[in-house]
Parts: sequence; structure tokens; C-alpha cells
Amino acid sequence: MDFASIAEVDAAVAAAKAAFPGWRATSLSRRTEVMFRVRNIVEAHRRELAAFLTAEHGKVPSDALGEIARGIENLEFATGIPNLIKGGFSEQVSTGIDVYQIRQPLGVVAGITPFNFPAMVPMWMFANAIACGNTFILKPSEKDPSASLYLAELLKEAGVPDGVFNVIQGDKVAVDRILDHPDIAAVSFVGSTPIARYIYETGTRNGKRVQALGGAKNHMIVLPDADIDMAADAAVSAGYGSSGERCMAIATVVAVGAVADPLVEAIAKRLPKVRVGPGTALVTKQHRDKVASYLDSAPAQGATVVADGREHPLYRGSEGFFLGTSLIDHVTPAMDCYRDEIFGPVLTVTRVATYAEALQLVNDNPYGNGTAIFTRDGGAARQYQFDVNVGMVGINVPVPVPVAFYSFGGWKASLFGDLHMYGPEGIQFYTRAKIVTARWPDPGTSKVDLGFPRTR
Ligand code: NAD
Repeated sequence: MDFASIAEVDAAVAAAKAAFPGWRATSLSRRTEVMFRVRNIVEAHRRELAAFLTAEHGKVPSDALGEIARGIENLEFATGIPNLIKGGFSEQVSTGIDVYQIRQPLGVVAGITPFNFPAMVPMWMFANAIACGNTFILKPSEKDPSASLYLAELLKEAGVPDGVFNVIQGDKVAVDRILDHPDIAAVSFVGSTPIARYIYETGTRNGKRVQALGGAKNHMIVLPDADIDMAADAAVSAGYGSSGERCMAIATVVAVGAVADPLVEAIAKRLPKVRVGPGTALVTKQHRDKVASYLDSAPAQGATVVADGREHPLYRGSEGFFLGTSLIDHVTPAMDCYRDEIFGPVLTVTRVATYAEALQLVNDNPYGNGTAIFTRDGGAARQYQFDVNVGMVGINVPVPVPVAFYSFGGWKASLFGDLHMYGPEGIQFYTRAKIVTARWPDPGTSKVDLGFPRTR
């Protein structure tokens, strides 16, 4: 695949810029109609779309379809655009004067997306962006580029006019051109933290509005009163689902007090039942080898490897980049396996004595994407939701990805910018407010006889 040159990025931006005046002037009811058709066409072709995800990302069909279903939620949300984009109106703020707010699209906006959700993350962005009247440039990950091209075909079929949704395939060259192109008003980014920081700093320096979602290290706190089987099931599905290549995956379990031994045992007992095979390969060999390297560095730094995924027969095979489920216990905050975002099927366990220690661990961590607490104590869970410096919190729910009518975003190094992605904050991100203060001519100059005295 050839990567886009600067001239090709410029051509895409020019097409988006040319389409903007017509699209922003298209009525809300017409845009709603188009969004309904987009939703229905994507839903009707979800299996074909899923096939691209399975072929290029490698996720199993059920995961691919799950990702698409979560993406479609955002298309559904965007069909509510007439209501979502409503402004406010204040009548008679002063004699004869009304004030109102209208929300207008920004112009050409761009989305830069990661490899791990090649269909859903673009839908997080473009659904609201185009429903608001913007035109959109998508730069997907070069590791799985085809889903975005197929989405472009579907959008065209749904009646999205030419130039409203554009895809460019590229790497840093294309990204850097997006960041300095004067005709791009805003950039949404999802990916790793170092790149997110770079996108935010460069984009904002160039005067663009930027939301840049970064990496994660999601902690699951298990209090001593938790249902151990429920917590172990959750740790396994959230830690190893999609081979841990999810920004909302549970990376580390924090076991409080006496729950540690039975919990580690319960997790370990479940590992042989986690399927490793077609659909669970990691994205590249280089990434798989980096993930596996923590199984050496962790014991060297004092941790205990309870399950070593390199023992899985597929690890040594030549077909695909597999690693079996791995579990590392007695992990401390100084160890590499705790500090780094591993992004693979490796779950670590840190043992602490008290809730306060567990909380401090989470709040000291530089990331703040998601977290979960497992307990039967409603008061403790409520206290945690109050105390924790993390953007998305699950209570006995290990992967608390918000539904599309809330917004998605972490805190700290998991998000650069002010507005979270999709949902109501997505609408805010892709529009700007204009406040109109209006006075109509003095009634004395009006020729219309209302038949009764005017009130102002
Ligand atoms: P990545 O940061 O390597 O790539 C993301 C995008 O940035 C891609 O489109 C890529 O082409 C581009 N890019 C990569 N290097 C670049 C550079 N030097 N300059 C400019 N652009 C560059 O991320 P990835 O490996 O594709 O995805 C995995 C990461 O994404 C993990 O860290 C994961 O936590 C994170 N992620 C976060 C969320 C979230 O919602 N916070 C969601 C999904 C993934």
C-alpha cells in the first residue's frame, strides 16, 4: 500500500473544503435522514465489514461484530442531531432585545485512529462530526486500513455527498500534514500516549481544536468482601479479551487484604479455558515479542510468574503472533510490567493491605482511562467513584465503556484536551457556539398593524 503524499492529503482537504458549504447548508432533517441511512447500511453490511477486521486486525468474528455494534450506537446517537445541536433562547433580556445561541460546524475536521478498533473508533468520530455539518478526513492506522475504505463506500451508498467523508491512508507524513494544514479546523485522535501528546501539542500550537486520547493502565480493585468467582470471571474476560489489545482492558488487579490468595488461584484456574488460536494473535511479531519480554523482566525484578504464555504451543509456531494467557503476581509499582502499558494478554496482580493503599496506587498512576471496583459494599463503591482520578469507573463492571449517549474519555495521560469523545461532548467538540443579541426595529417604523398595542 502506498502512503499518501503531502499533495494527496492536500487534495483530500481541498475536496472536503469544497463540500463544506453545501453540507453545512443541508437541512437538519435531510442530514438526519442521511444518518439513518448510514446507520442502516452499516448494520446491513456488518458481516462484510467484520471480515476486514478479522483479516487485517485478526480479531475473532464475534469480537469484530461486537466492535461494529458499539460503533453503530454512535451512528444511532447522531440521528438525533436536530435535538443535539439545539441552542438556547432568552427572550427580552432587555427591552426589545432577545439573545440566543446557535451551534455551527467547524469546517473540515480530521480523525486519526489506532489499529485496535478499525471500525468503532472512526464511528466514534465521524458520526457526530458529519451530522453536525462538518466534512471529515479519516486517517486510519496503516496496520488495518481496509475497514475505513469500506465504510467510505457504505457512506456513499447511503447518500453522503462526495467530499463529506474522505479517507487518506498514511503514516507520519500524512499526520503531520493534517496537523499543519491551515484548512483543517480540528483533530480527533485515539492512540498511544506519546503520539497523543505530540498530536495535541502540535495541533493546538497550529491553532486547531484537538482531543487526543492516549494509552491506559486500567486497575481493577478487588475488596475483601467481593464475590471471588464474579471478580475472577471479570478479570479474565477484561484482561485477556481481544488479547488485551484494548485501551479499556484490565491490566492490573489490585487485591486488597485476604482476597489475594483465593483470587489469584481463581484466576489461574480459569486460564486454561481461555481460547488461544485463530483470532487471538497479537498485531505484529515485534509487539508480541515486546509483550512476552515482561515475562522475563518481571521475575528478574522480584515478581512471580504464575502462568507463562510462552508455554502455549502456538507461541513457537510460525502461523501468527500468538502468546498464551500470562499472569504475574506480587507486582510492585516500581516494576516495568506495572509501569508500562503492555497491551497484550498479560495480567498483573498487586497486593495491598487497605482500600486507601489501593486508591493511592490508582491515583498515583500517570494514566486515568478506566478502572473498576469489585465489592458487595455499596458505600465503599460510592466512595471509590468519588475519590478516584480516572475518567470511566465500573462498579462490578470490568470494562466500563460508556454507552453512546454519554461520552468516552480518560483523565491524566489518557486524554489531552478538554472534551471527551462521542456523545454530548462530541457534539460540543465538533461545533462552536455563536451568540446572537437581536433587536428588531422600533415598532413605530413597522408597517404591520397587529390590531392591538405592541408590548415592546
Ligand atoms: P499509535 O499511537 O501507534 O497509532 C495511532 C495513530 O497514530 C495511527 O493512525 C498511526 O498511523 C499514527 N502514528 C503512529 N506513530 C506516529 C507518529 N510518530 N507521528 C504521527 N502519527 C503517528 O497507536 P496504536 O498502536 O495504533 O494503538 C494502540 C494504542 O492506542 C494503545 O496505547 C491504546 O491504549 C491506545 N488506544 C487508546 C484508546 C482510548 O480510547 N484512550 C482507544 C484505543 C486505543
